[in-house]
Amino acid sequence: MTNDWNISALDMPRFIELAVPCRWQTALSSLPRVHALCEGDVSVDPGLQCDWSMLAQTRGNGPRAQNWLHLQAGLTLTQRCQRCLEPMAVALAVDRWFRFVADEATALAEDDACEEDLLAMSSEFDALNLLEDELLLAMPLIISHSSCQPPPSKALGDDLPHPFAALAGLKLPKP
Ligand SMILES: [Zn+2]
Repeated sequence: MTNDWNISALDMPRFIELAVPCRWQTALSSLPRVHALCEGDVSVDPGLQCDWSMLAQTRGNGPRAQNWLHLQAGLTLTQRCQRCLEPMAVALAVDRWFRFVADEATALAEDDACEEDLLAMSSEFDALNLLEDELLLAMPLIISHSSCQPPPSKALGDDLPHPFAALAGLKLPKP
């Protein structure tokens, strides 16, 4: 299903009012920061698209009403395993809720005090930028096949003396 929303300048108050889930398919080439991760010697499928959706929701009534946004996205990138250097598929998944506040200043002021992620309300909301931010956050820090993972560090450390073992032999001075 296609829709007419301008995803880089979305009229968020209207999107919230309609409260209808919307889906998009966005080409990787339209996500330059994510695309940059795929450049180099791993070939990128030029038809690769990110499937994503947003749903806005108003919770509560009157002055206590809060506007929330649900973002879901999926994208599978080809990356190079950092250990064996062979290409591998890395599936990125985004599934997050955000709460809207009046503006950037409020978002900054309230950010530390609440657990949820805050967004500034805008009639030209850059949803594409938010999608890119979240895809980048979903990227694993270390990209490697599960079979290429090093053995757990505990096994490596078992032969080493415990750093505090020597302390056990020390006598404490009497008070
Ligand atoms: Zn590997």
